[in-house]
Amino acid sequence: MSVLSETRAPVEVSKVGLRDYRNFIDGTFVEGSSRYIEVTNPANGASLGRVPESGPDVVDAAVRAAHKAQPTWEKLPAVQRAGYLRQISANIRGRRLELSDIIVREQGKVRGLAQVEVDFTADYIDYMAEWARRLEGEVLTSDRPNETMLLLRKPIGTVAGILPWNFPFFLIARKLAPALVTGNTIVIKPSEETPINAFMFAELVAETDLPAGVFNLVGGRGATTGEALVAHTEIDLVTFTGSIATGAHIMQTAGKNLTRVNLELGGKAPAIVLADADLDLAAKAIYDSRVINTGQVCNCAERVYVEHRLHDALVEKLQALFRATRYGDPSVEEDLHMGPLINQAGLDKVGRAVEQARSDGATVVTGGKIADRPSGFHYEPTLIVGARAEMDIMRRETFGPVLPIQAVGSLDEAIDLANDSDYGLTSSIYTNNINFALRACRDLKFGETYINRENFEAMQGFHAGRRKSGIGGADGKHGLYEFTETHVIYIQAR
Ligand code: NAD
Repeated sequence: MSVLSETRAPVEVSKVGLRDYRNFIDGTFVEGSSRYIEVTNPANGASLGRVPESGPDVVDAAVRAAHKAQPTWEKLPAVQRAGYLRQISANIRGRRLELSDIIVREQGKVRGLAQVEVDFTADYIDYMAEWARRLEGEVLTSDRPNETMLLLRKPIGTVAGILPWNFPFFLIARKLAPALVTGNTIVIKPSEETPINAFMFAELVAETDLPAGVFNLVGGRGATTGEALVAHTEIDLVTFTGSIATGAHIMQTAGKNLTRVNLELGGKAPAIVLADADLDLAAKAIYDSRVINTGQVCNCAERVYVEHRLHDALVEKLQALFRATRYGDPSVEEDLHMGPLINQAGLDKVGRAVEQARSDGATVVTGGKIADRPSGFHYEPTLIVGARAEMDIMRRETFGPVLPIQAVGSLDEAIDLANDSDYGLTSSIYTNNINFALRACRDLKFGETYINRENFEAMQGFHAGRRKSGIGGADGKHGLYEFTETHVIYIQAR
């Protein structure tokens, strides 16, 4: 998804009404729930609606529906499965304004970026549908005469997709589209912070011909609904995106049934700026990569290592950009760079991280406090200099609009510091020297490296973290095959 230039597109607005939403199980919206979660706008506290807090019995019904539908779904030609996906993407395009409006209001995303998210989601589903005629097995060489060996790729079965709140709509597609085109069925649990867009997704699925049970949606919190889903014995794969702590916990729960996991976790992306870099390009790309979605993006630049010679000039450019940042309530204000943080816990976490950096001896040169606004979880865009490798601000994911900078003496020092991290999702380097760029490609131990551009992945790539940033990955051919398992056939001719 690329990025701020596209977020400034002309804005069209529509409104979604307040209401209670219903779980979607076995092709039906299920009436009634004893408990609900109220969803509010993080920019101003306004109530947006309520979604069910599903208990284990509801989760069980959803998993059973998916499990029952799977064998028939698997037997359809892949190209037919892709046809249903294309119906979904067409419906997404038809409800673009409503969908982006709810993303603005429940997640706090600026409107242009919310529209990019909706468009990208429809494109992603179409992209995965295109794989229907490209799914391939292998023909292997046998040790025996007159024998043929085939390696088939088969669906894993019933998938649980557990989503975070930061790209809530796109993440539905990242789980659902590769799962369905390869013949799996799925139960999705959205984040309790941003569930309404997923319930609207269920409504547009219900308007397609997708067979009952292939896609199911249950609302709820992690410790109850999510836990019941992961622990269910008829789930064959849990695909999760979220924090490291939750990912580790899910792995333990899934481990009791030896259920497979695919984990997309946090990041602390380093941006390395060498003395020969294009200064304007580096400053703008790093800035874009930090304020997009108010810094709440797993793969965006969270720490900068800049060579001494360029340090002051880079800080000056970044300061100007940070100070010019327009932030506020995207549900009523246009042309913003940034909205609020997702909730009070997010605001507290960012505030604590900045205070800790101050007491560790770093210097806040721009921002550094909660924004002076009447309501909502707004934090000022914040630039920190004098950071050092051992400080938490350079080691822990902040997930907010805060950028710490450390001066370094060489590329080798920058690479060593970048790699010395629990995280290994993405990284970037700014240089005009091909030899330095190639050295960084060789030595950076990350799933992705961006050279002279902001961090944001393409759907045909492979988004996968090293170290504690995840297990497995998503997107492209390799992400698709994460939803398959192999079956080897030995055919002995007489
Ligand atoms: P989170 O871990 O708090 O929650 C994610 C989901 O897990 C939610 O739906 C939640 O209800 C559920 N959950 C919580 N406890 C659970 C349990 N015990 N069992 C099952 N499900 C449970 O994460 P978040 O705050 O929603 O998202 C932010 C994090 O996600 C950040 O760390 C960010 O870096 C990461 N993230 C990573 C990627 C990636 O592609 N690597 C993408 C987006 C976000």
